[in-house]
Amino acid sequence: MYFSRIAALFLLVGFVSGCSPQEQTDNVEGITVYSSRAEHLIKPLFDVFTAQTGIPVRYTTDSEAALISRLEAEGENTPADILLTVDAGNLWFADSKNLFQAVDSPILQGNVPENLRSQAGTWFGLSVRARTIVYSTDRVDRQNLDSYEGLADSEWQGRLCLRTSKKVYNQSLVASLITRLGIEETENIVAGWVKNLAVEPLGSDNQAIEAVVAGVCDVTVVNTYYFGRMQADNPEIPAAIFWPNQSTSGVHLNVSGAGVTRNAPNPALAQQLLEWLSESEAQAMFAGLNKEFPVNPSVDAIDQVEAWGDFKADSLNVEEVGRLQAEAVMLMDRAGYK
Ligand code: FE
Repeated sequence: MYFSRIAALFLLVGFVSGCSPQEQTDNVEGITVYSSRAEHLIKPLFDVFTAQTGIPVRYTTDSEAALISRLEAEGENTPADILLTVDAGNLWFADSKNLFQAVDSPILQGNVPENLRSQAGTWFGLSVRARTIVYSTDRVDRQNLDSYEGLADSEWQGRLCLRTSKKVYNQSLVASLITRLGIEETENIVAGWVKNLAVEPLGSDNQAIEAVVAGVCDVTVVNTYYFGRMQADNPEIPAAIFWPNQSTSGVHLNVSGAGVTRNAPNPALAQQLLEWLSESEAQAMFAGLNKEFPVNPSVDAIDQVEAWGDFKADSLNVEEVGRLQAEAVMLMDRAGYK
């Protein structure tokens, strides 16, 4: 009798404190993530995080442009603790709108290489994708491939497919060329690509690979994971990855990544989730689900991705490609790259 009264008292206290506004602490609220990365690539991770920590994670998925506009409109009233998106160009853009806050985390600094996060600590890469050459194994001798620049050579006339210049992935690639070669030379190269196009720029990386497979063109430039998905569906796909610029700058890298929002209601929990995402278990899963490379160098990629072989990667700080986005867009326009 006495015991059950005590238990009832505890229940009552718990109930009352659960309702009081002061008790809406980090743990009760959980974490809210705005993500342009698709649900099936993030939910499995959040489920594991919640199972391990008891901290709920809510998420909203939408395009990066919509999420960035929403964060701006919500201002101090945003429910979002984290913005998770792809491409340093998008992360840099959100940062330029002051939508992130700096996080000083030795864990994140240790797990995420310096060139794959913002120097101010406002965002951190969580997975790495290489934007590389994919070619027809039926019609191309890989000895004839060399570099991104080389795709402007006349031997590729009428043989090149590219995704539209409207996509941030290509804007970042061209920005990386600008950092290395300068405006004038980069513009000549992009104009050479346009001259070599077999068809008008395509709407997606998938379409570009499909065009190579269908014989519309012989060579294209895509993110590795798109090729990985098609290769998984069709191991005999008559196309392969080529790692360009191995004797010069290396392959262009980009990231998916995230930062704690400027007005995060629960910044400490948000940081905890980002740190957890950078550790081994989450890294293997986060990269593996999308056939990407883990950002944490101590973690291996999945076997299919490892089988594409080692390559030299561009060590450029991906923040630079964000800074040069606008320049790259204007350059592609001048060069006639639609
Ligand atoms: Fe993508």
